[in-house]
Amino acid sequence: MNNSKQSNQGTAATPVPFVDLKAQLPQVQNEITARINRVISDTAFILGEDTAGFEKNFSAYIGAPYAAGVASGLDALRLVLTAHDIGPGDEVILPANTFIATALAVTAAGAVPVLCDCNDYYLIDTGLIESKITAKTKAILPVHLYGQCADMDAVRAIAEKHSLFVIEDAAQAHGARYKDQRAGNLSSAGCFSFYPGKNLGAFGDGGLITVQNKEIYQKLLMLRNYGQSKKYYHDTKGVNSRLDTIQAAVLDVKLKYLDAWNHSRNEAAAYYTKCITDAGLPVHTPQISPDSTHIFHLYIIRTPKRDALLSYLTAQNISCGIHYPIPVHLQKCYGNTLGGKGSFPKTESFRPDHPNMRILILRD
Ligand SMILES: *Cc1c(COP(=O)(O)O)cnc(C)c1O
Repeated sequence: MNNSKQSNQGTAATPVPFVDLKAQLPQVQNEITARINRVISDTAFILGEDTAGFEKNFSAYIGAPYAAGVASGLDALRLVLTAHDIGPGDEVILPANTFIATALAVTAAGAVPVLCDCNDYYLIDTGLIESKITAKTKAILPVHLYGQCADMDAVRAIAEKHSLFVIEDAAQAHGARYKDQRAGNLSSAGCFSFYPGKNLGAFGDGGLITVQNKEIYQKLLMLRNYGQSKKYYHDTKGVNSRLDTIQAAVLDVKLKYLDAWNHSRNEAAAYYTKCITDAGLPVHTPQISPDSTHIFHLYIIRTPKRDALLSYLTAQNISCGIHYPIPVHLQKCYGNTLGGKGSFPKTESFRPDHPNMRILILRD
């Protein structure tokens, strides 16, 4: 966090960046440098000891039996779909209100993304999922967006009834809980991103899949490494998508601090919510579901006076932005294939030209 809390109203405050990656460095830099130096001395840069070590520690943290490190969150999603034999001719249901990568992963796996509108938590509206199921549906892919878990009991009940897989996009939910389980341990597989700005971020790109089933796990190990079952034996057409040893070493050091960092994000969020509420401002603060903890990857607010608030915060040196300005189904790359304008009213009510568009004011 930052010291904006102490700043006086009306005077230009200490700048509050949208994301300040330097803030956590003093806590971890020495340890990380030592670990990186060790990797350099060992020269095991690809799938070295630290990759296996981090996979073990991260899966234990999540509570899942297996974890496979990959090159990015997008790769985590697309490879896990392939590992579940989801591809051409199949449909996957996901929320319209998400980062584009969730949909792109389905497309990259060869399947068709089918979007579903969101609820007041900005998460998939489980009441609408069944209306999206067809004979081609293979999986439901809920996203624990902004750091809060989707209603997984409802998702799993629907999946069970229709014999569908459930795979979580947990790229914004490292450490979040739904009831007594962590995100990534609530379905067949959980997909994580370690993009530097995520709650657990590498010094570059990285991703990981937590997995319940040993066969799926073994498929993932092959898929990420050219489809090889052992050196020079390629059983399946895989790709090159591995978590670098250096990135794994960085992540392994940072993992120890994740709960404390998530905790301080929570304190900051509670402080913002209290101030906004006490001031009686016309601002919707984030709603926290009773079933989920929130790790506040992002602190999302909505206000009818969005533009005025944006200018005020900008004048105060507080970085903020509109998140996400264009919903997935209105992105140029998908044309009208995922549903045209008006298809997902709730998601679209958060568009930038809509007076109630959310803006985001908290990142770290
Ligand atoms: C960041 C993110 C991804 C993609 O992760 P990358 O590591 O950037 O590929 C996927 N889904 C969501 C919800 C994300 O926020």
